[in-house]
Amino acid sequence: MTSRKASYGLNEDEQEMINVVREFAEQHVAPRAAEIDQSGQFPWDLKEQMAELDFLALPFPSAYGGIGASDLLVVMAVEELARRCASTSLVLGAQTLAGTPIVLFGNEQQKHYYLPRLAKGEWLAAYALTEPEAGSDAGSMRTTAVKKGDVYVLNGSKHFITNGGLAQVTVVFARTDPQAGTRGITAFLVEKDAPGFSVGKVEHKMGIRGSQTTELVFTDCEVPADAILGREGDGFKIAMATLDRTRPCVAAQALGIAQGAFEYALEYLKTRTQFGKPIADQQGIQFMVAEMATELEAARLLVYRAAMLIDRSQDEPDLRFSQESAMAKMYASETAVRVVDRALQFLGGYGYMTEYPLERMYRDVRITPIYEGTNQIQRLVIAREALR
Ligand SMILES: Cc1cc2nc3c(=O)[nH]c(=O)nc-3n(C[C@H](O)[C@H](O)[C@H](O)COP(=O)(O)OP(=O)(O)OC[C@H]3O[C@@H](n4cnc5c(N)ncnc54)[C@H](O)[C@@H]3O)c2cc1C
Repeated sequence: MTSRKASYGLNEDEQEMINVVREFAEQHVAPRAAEIDQSGQFPWDLKEQMAELDFLALPFPSAYGGIGASDLLVVMAVEELARRCASTSLVLGAQTLAGTPIVLFGNEQQKHYYLPRLAKGEWLAAYALTEPEAGSDAGSMRTTAVKKGDVYVLNGSKHFITNGGLAQVTVVFARTDPQAGTRGITAFLVEKDAPGFSVGKVEHKMGIRGSQTTELVFTDCEVPADAILGREGDGFKIAMATLDRTRPCVAAQALGIAQGAFEYALEYLKTRTQFGKPIADQQGIQFMVAEMATELEAARLLVYRAAMLIDRSQDEPDLRFSQESAMAKMYASETAVRVVDRALQFLGGYGYMTEYPLERMYRDVRITPIYEGTNQIQRLVIAREALR
């Protein structure tokens, strides 16, 4: 698969970076994946190594301490990591999700302060949009921010926040004008030690257990007025512009998990003998293998195409990519769930046992049709663009 990536237009340096990511995933991530899942602990050591190898610098511009990689390279890196451990891929995925609004909408001071810390991996970041009563309908959020002198006072809560309690900076969306609907929402950069900011419930999850997901609570939480990202009222636009650009990362995570499951199952099919021959020799199995290989490749094309459009949009600001981004997320995650399910089936009873990685992959992949907008919401985005 590594060599095939060259055909997607990576230059030599980019190909080299992907090879480094793949080697790291093979040597350092793969041996840890089962233990990360069982312990439910964030993989701090792998995060450090990823920072040293500059993986966390990939999504950030070189002017702010990053290495300014293309979106295509970022999604390929996420895919390679997810092939071995979904939780570890989310270290890069979450940093990209929360860093993107700062890259897009931060002022120079904010970018110079936050981005180098994120790029070096000294700080983790979080993106806090979802609330207990406002999930798919994020625009109905209830968390408020009221200006008092030179501070804003935040009250409310967010939940299901990746890196909650770990992130030194969180992009928090709150309502500054209760009458203005989605135009009354503002994005704030809230640091971990802001007075009145605390971490609530830590979730126990089905999969991606090495990624911490928590509630965040704001009780008269004060942030300086200059902690606003963009302008007052821009928050919803910022939230959506971010998700348009980061959904291909979720798609790549799904693709990577499924690719890992598929490869594992193929080896199994070749070595497991029943009815006097390897089960890979059964045509009924081969038809499934053919479909899985084709669907994975179709998903890969959608994911890479969305990433390439996002890259092109830097020079062509009018280029639209919401639909392609949503298609990639919807199709890749649904394909991945199906492929992992079949790969598990290939292992028969062994697939169900925790000694084998398939059951972990099966649990891990199930998040991908849910977060960063459920696949029902992706369908709304795709249909809206189609009907324009
Ligand atoms: C592990 C994990 C990590 C997460 N990390 C983050 C994070 O870092 N930051 C963050 O802000 N959020 C995060 N989320 C939240 C995630 O984005 C939301 O869970 C998701 O957007 C869905 O919201 P909900 O759970 O409230 O479901 P709901 O919105 O209540 O939806 C329930 C069901 O109804 C369907 N539905 C809703 N509206 C419609 C409609 N109009 N048409 C058709 N079907 C509809 C949905 O598709 C879904 O199937 C995370 C979630 C999880 C589980």
